[in-house]
Amino acid sequence: MLSAVHRAWLLLVVGCAAAYSEDGAKAETPKAKPAKVVSVKPAAEPVKVEAPKSCIDDAKPFDPVVMRARLEALAAPELDGRASGTAGDQAARALIAERFRCLGLAPGGDGDGYEQAFEDSNGAATANLVGVIEGSSKPDEIILVGAHHDHLGGGFLGANDNASGVVGLLAIAQAVAQRETKPARTIAFVTFGAEEQGLVGSMYFTRNPPKAVPLDNVVQYINLDMIGSHASKSSVFAFGAFAKQPAKKLLEKLDDKFPKVHLGIGGHSVRGDHYWFCKKTIPYVFFWTPDNRCYHEKCDTAAKIDYARMADIAQIAGGLATSLAETSVDLVASKTKIGCFGR
Ligand SMILES: [Zn+2]
Repeated sequence: MLSAVHRAWLLLVVGCAAAYSEDGAKAETPKAKPAKVVSVKPAAEPVKVEAPKSCIDDAKPFDPVVMRARLEALAAPELDGRASGTAGDQAARALIAERFRCLGLAPGGDGDGYEQAFEDSNGAATANLVGVIEGSSKPDEIILVGAHHDHLGGGFLGANDNASGVVGLLAIAQAVAQRETKPARTIAFVTFGAEEQGLVGSMYFTRNPPKAVPLDNVVQYINLDMIGSHASKSSVFAFGAFAKQPAKKLLEKLDDKFPKVHLGIGGHSVRGDHYWFCKKTIPYVFFWTPDNRCYHEKCDTAAKIDYARMADIAQIAGGLATSLAETSVDLVASKTKIGCFGR
């Protein structure tokens, strides 16, 4: 059975509800609330519908129980691993967009939406999703948090790879959205499509940056890819946080607050969406937990996730995003001087 939170989240998705079936039955499509007609005269008076509710205060952002429910929705067999260009990919994108919307993130995709559409390697239509929380005093300096939302499909559900990263990103977005005062710098969020085809969505994003996220303004990229298998080797890595990077000291401080998390800081990685950002000399931190048994295997399911540490890692990554957004260190100068290395 689906938990109440899980089910409520699924039912938010209008238009994709058929993708989620419970007990083999067709899922119900949410019914529109009765429209409040302000006046019957004149007949042309527009009908006013109740404004959508905010979801900012619905829970503690890093509650492992809520995060688990979200992960189970993204890694549900009905979505079949969210393979690029499939109905499962579309349904996952709808869930993420709905969450961005109710958290009040400003749409950063094409037109007025969150989606940045592109064609994947098979010529299928898919998209990245982009949402923004504008900084209060340095809005032109952007901390970008990213995670790919696609996986392989064909029975490979990709719970750790990378529903875990998306759920971590959504928790961070909530933590930032519910702050009373906005951070000094802008924090933007992106989920990438078609990563499993060879970093296609992030390549498209960095070659065609949306107006809301000019790459010149991005002073830090934080990548979350596979943060749900801390238990596998009792470790998580934060690649890219080299000795001279401003992120390193901030991470060390955060690490001290989570004694159960074994965080390896530093080292270079080219295996993930951060690759394109480093190519553009943007500093990156790539959070990743090794998965000894189930990497790109059918056993990468929601049942195998280490939820307690996944929540901790998301909190560390979120703490890093907000400390970078607030730091008095000149991140523009640092990026110009050392780019994405600084060993
Ligand atoms: Zn991945």
